[in-house]
Amino acid sequence: MSFGVDDEIEPRFLVPGVHIRRHTEPDGRGGLTVPVPCCGRRAHLADIGTHHQALIGCPFCRLLYDTTIIDELDGGHAAVLQVRDEQIALARRHPRRPRQTRDNA
Ligand SMILES: [Zn+2]
Repeated sequence: MSFGVDDEIEPRFLVPGVHIRRHTEPDGRGGLTVPVPCCGRRAHLADIGTHHQALIGCPFCRLLYDTTIIDELDGGHAAVLQVRDEQIALARRHPRRPRQTRDNA
């Protein structure tokens, strides 16, 4: 299944293998931003250079996308995002430390 640039997509359709095409926006510094289909948040690719493949993740919706950047030859770029099978778990919690009490402070 694939979706075009203007298609709104219900979360239940964001399953592995689905392709979604999106417009990107240049950041003015050689990079661009790509809206993720799950929630519309934007991923920033700092320097596309000669790389036309990216792995984009949304830590809020826990989805990963294999992403192909396509030069539209009009100065702009499109992105085709394919939902990956893997879910994301980002490490962001520190190990618990024992509470400081007056006795051991
Ligand atoms: Zn999201």
